Parts: sequence; structure tokens; C-alpha cells
Amino acid sequence: MHYPEPISKLMDSFMKLPGIGPKTAGRLAFFVLSMKEDTVLDFAKALVDAKRNLRFCSVCGHITDIDPCHICQDTQRDGSMICVVQDPKDVIAMEKMRDFKGRYHVLHGAISPMEGIGPEDINVPSLLVRLQDEEVEELILATNPTIEGEATAMYISRLVRPSGIKTTRIAHGLPVGGDLEYADEVTLSKALEGRREL
Ligand SMILES: [Zn+2]
Repeated sequence: MHYPEPISKLMDSFMKLPGIGPKTAGRLAFFVLSMKEDTVLDFAKALVDAKRNLRFCSVCGHITDIDPCHICQDTQRDGSMICVVQDPKDVIAMEKMRDFKGRYHVLHGAISPMEGIGPEDINVPSLLVRLQDEEVEELILATNPTIEGEATAMYISRLVRPSGIKTTRIAHGLPVGGDLEYADEVTLSKALEGRREL
């Protein structure tokens, strides 16, 4: 089917988003035509602003509009505990639970020898710097319960052990092979409660 160029360009843009095929892209593009111009402008501005104003926190690696992020700047939080996660979305999932009052460290991935991803390719070096500079007593390894997530937790645990900092692993009320971000709050809360020392 042949569309006028502005429509096909808009459809191509929607198709760059995950999970959007040609059919949905067409539906969304035609929906945009029915929207008020102001609403469309706000929408376009929100996209650009999000991209321009968001960066990764220079301390913990979480996504943020200020650096250091709100969590790192919050003096009410317990700096003796750092929860290590793979993805910024995991921080958001943990924060929804409201049980955890420590700080975070976002690895942006997991160690995967199969894909050639080593500790230096993810935020492990910056974690080691933090452990030297900050007074951390416990490192909660909340990487995903996948082979890569487990391997990453084991690696960090072994690396940190000589320093005397306690490393714990969240319990597996979490489904094996799943992603932390998809866990419901109760499951996540139980998993944190049942963490064990590594
Ligand atoms: Zn931060």
C-alpha cells in the first residue's frame, strides 16, 4: 500500500520502537493525524527533552536528569548498603517496593564470556572505586537470576571478599531465567528479605 510520504516517514519512526510492527505503526501514525497540533508538539518535545536531559549518574550509573542522581544525593539513605543491579529499570522496580533505603550501583549489563562481555565492559571498575571511597558494609547482589546474572554476582562476590565487605545475593522467590524488572513488588520484597551471604 502506498502512503503519502509524511505518513510513511512517521510509520518508519514508530517502527524503530521495540514491539511495533507495520500494522501498529500505521494505526499510531493515523492516530497522530487526529490529535490536536499542540498535543503533537508536546509529544515531540517530550521525546527530544527526555533524550537531551537524561544521562547516567556519574556515581551509581542510574538514569537521571541531575548528576549525581536524586538517590545518590539523598543524605537520608543508608550509604552502608549498595544494591547492585544490571539495569536502570531494576532500580525503578526496587524503588517501587519502598523497602530498600540503601544506595544502588547499576552495572549496565552482566558478564557474559559467550558474548565477550567482561567485567571491564560493564560498570564493575566504578563499583570498586566506590567501595574504596565510601564506607560500604554490605553489597547486595541483585543481578538477574540468569546464568549471566549469577556469574556476575559470583565474580563480584569473589572480587570483594578480601576487603571484608559482606556480599549477599537476593533470594530466588524470583523466577529463574526472568528479569528483575518484571517481578511484582511482593516477590521482589521477599527476595530481598531472604538474601543470603555469598
Ligand atoms: Zn546516582
